[in-house]
Amino acid sequence: MLMHHTRCGAHGLPEEQVKAEIQAETGIRPPFSLESFSDIEARCRQSMARIRLSPFLRHRDKVRGFVLDVDDGALARGGVTSTATACAPSSPTGRR
Ligand SMILES: [Zn+2]
Repeated sequence: MLMHHTRCGAHGLPEEQVKAEIQAETGIRPPFSLESFSDIEARCRQSMARIRLSPFLRHRDKVRGFVLDVDDGALARGGVTSTATACAPSSPTGRR
């Protein structure tokens, strides 16, 4: 199970700008991705795919992804995979 969340610091982070700032301050440009993203559902789906394809995990046939709305505590459910699924917003039952 993986969970992404709204109001994430990486959401909309200007990666190139931040890397340039770090380089200006430290003299070293980060050689890794800061993993910024613009679409949280797409990021959730990508993370699920990463897990499904990871050679380092033994059990990866059932991956579930969620997006937690930190403002109201609502969980948007992705789904159980083996088939391709999406972290699409849904209306959890019993909410409001
Ligand atoms: Zn975050």
